[in-house]
Amino acid sequence: MPEIASRHRRASSDVELLEAARTGEAGSLHRLWPRHVAAVESYASTCVSSPAEIPELASFAYRALHRRVEEADGLGGRRHDGCVRLQLLQLVRARAVQTGASGPPHPTLFHLWVHSGAVWPMRDDWQLSEAFDRLGPVDKTLLWHCLVERDSVADIAEITGVAVEAVTRRLRLARSHLRQSRMRIHLAHRGCGDCLRPVGGVGALVHGTGTPPSVHDLTLCQDCQKVYGDLLHLDDWLAGQLPVRILGWWPGDEYLRAKAVLRQKATAASATALRRARGSARHVRKERGRRSGRARHAAPPMSGRMGWALSVAAGTFSGGTGKRRLNGS
Ligand SMILES: [Zn+2]
Repeated sequence: MPEIASRHRRASSDVELLEAARTGEAGSLHRLWPRHVAAVESYASTCVSSPAEIPELASFAYRALHRRVEEADGLGGRRHDGCVRLQLLQLVRARAVQTGASGPPHPTLFHLWVHSGAVWPMRDDWQLSEAFDRLGPVDKTLLWHCLVERDSVADIAEITGVAVEAVTRRLRLARSHLRQSRMRIHLAHRGCGDCLRPVGGVGALVHGTGTPPSVHDLTLCQDCQKVYGDLLHLDDWLAGQLPVRILGWWPGDEYLRAKAVLRQKATAASATALRRARGSARHVRKERGRRSGRARHAAPPMSGRMGWALSVAAGTFSGGTGKRRLNGS
């Protein structure tokens, strides 16, 4: 695909790292984890009665993903295999429900939800969830990270493997695929569509080109009217209803705010590590200047020190619950 940059010019995508981990490449999951740890901890923070429980939930999700990869079970056959973030949030939610249901009730919204049966919303969404399920992994991951998670373009490019400059164009295509998927289900299941099919604007709407006519300007049956409205307001539906349909528990803005704070702290931690590494490198260069050529060989290479400092920054995270380092054990 032209918009997918060369493997040698970009970081490996999530799916590529999962594949690498599955084939035994040590450290692949450790490289993947910094992309998601802030989100996992933020989502976990909305499921616990005490911040002290967050590390255990996050660590559980990481270990469970590790097990799935080892069992070659995380790369095919599950509902959202292509989207690592969704898999991790589902793991956190499942574990939190399990521990929350067996523990004493707490006056948090999550625990109230768990103790009232952890019920999924059953309102008919007219097959929009099904339309999303039928998409390919890149479409799903792009839509989820852009419209639900509101991640940065740089982060989305890294996670999906789509080049930064192609993210917007590829997202437009993903929207079009979702609309087409929605229309196909409607035409196949509802029996109607006869009044929607000949509408000139539907093609433009489905393919994201031109200005579609307002629903008020059309003569549509009730079913087709609902479908047309969904197609017109696709982004609102994705952000507002899709998460709760998939995860059951969705704290919305609370999760997004917590994630933004943790990402800021992670960025600051990386910058501090980078400054320290540079300071260390300057110190080494001064030492080298003072020493003979023989002593120069005793110092580790700058890239090694820098790489170590950056990997520590990426592999550790201080999110207000104590600094910790996660690994696959
Ligand atoms: Zn109709």
